[in-house]
Amino acid sequence: MKKTLLSGIKPTGQIHLGNYFGAIKQWVDLVKSGEYESFVMIADYHALNFIQNKEEMRSLTQELVVDYLAVGLDPKEVTIFKQSDISAHTELTWIFDTLVTVPFLERAHAFKDAEAKNKEISVGTFNYPVLMASDILLYSPDVVPVGSDQKQHVEYTRDIADKFNFKFGETFKLPKEMILESVATVPGIDGQKMSKSYGNTIPLFASDEEIEKAVMSIVTDSSGDVPTNVYAIHKLLKTEEELAPIYEANKGKYKALKEALIADLKAFVGPLRARREEILANPTLVKETLEMGAKRAREVAEKKLEEAKVAIGVL
Ligand code: AMP
Repeated sequence: MKKTLLSGIKPTGQIHLGNYFGAIKQWVDLVKSGEYESFVMIADYHALNFIQNKEEMRSLTQELVVDYLAVGLDPKEVTIFKQSDISAHTELTWIFDTLVTVPFLERAHAFKDAEAKNKEISVGTFNYPVLMASDILLYSPDVVPVGSDQKQHVEYTRDIADKFNFKFGETFKLPKEMILESVATVPGIDGQKMSKSYGNTIPLFASDEEIEKAVMSIVTDSSGDVPTNVYAIHKLLKTEEELAPIYEANKGKYKALKEALIADLKAFVGPLRARREEILANPTLVKETLEMGAKRAREVAEKKLEEAKVAIGVL
């Protein structure tokens, strides 16, 4: 019996090194191990909290499928699907909504952050952890590989599953997050967590010019021999043993170290970008991938939703 893996990304902009090293690389490795049935989602209904323009939504979604294929996810080995194609996600969310309390959701980091910024918060943003619980629980995954920013959401998912199971009988398997300590929070060019919303990213498919510009704007302080923020990004690409002689030979020479990082980033990104170009040249691939993915995801999700509906007494 294979174990099950589920994860996903919101189509809200270009994916970056934080997404790749924090989450996607683990998916690719686990899929290749052959030990998992894997489900990788394009979380377009989560993205709707941010992207409210149809052309943008459509193109960001297509781009993300291309990205998934370019990093080496093979639709024959992994179910790549769009959240909005599987209506069980939103239907189960309603069922969970009747169990989850407002104070429980008010404790979520994402909600507290949005509130602290005095933003006007949509019901969708407030309810984000409940939709995410549905996304996960419909597929009964053994592992959910994510970056550390998603830890609380997986904990929320366990709490919601537990509450449902306690009230209506054992229905949902409690999932576990899988977070690789070394890349739990990949830093951006300013040393904060790399994030689309902070504008501090290095895109995974960056052009050579974008790489040069991003690395040259990495914030360095002059307090030591090693520019911390440069080293932190460099460590994603090379081991500490490989980096030691480079940083030893260039103590305090920030420009030379940035140039070394640029060269390594170009060597890493180049083949990924070339693969992406090849996929872009085959426009039917995205459509076929999503059709195939929706079919398999629907089979699994609808079966679990039906169990939940029987458990609550509506079926
Ligand atoms: P998102 O862009 O919020 O949809 O995130 C997609 C995935 O990338 C999630 O598993 C995140 O935890 C992960 N991720 C995003 N940014 C980072 C980062 N800076 N470091 C590690 N993981 C990240």
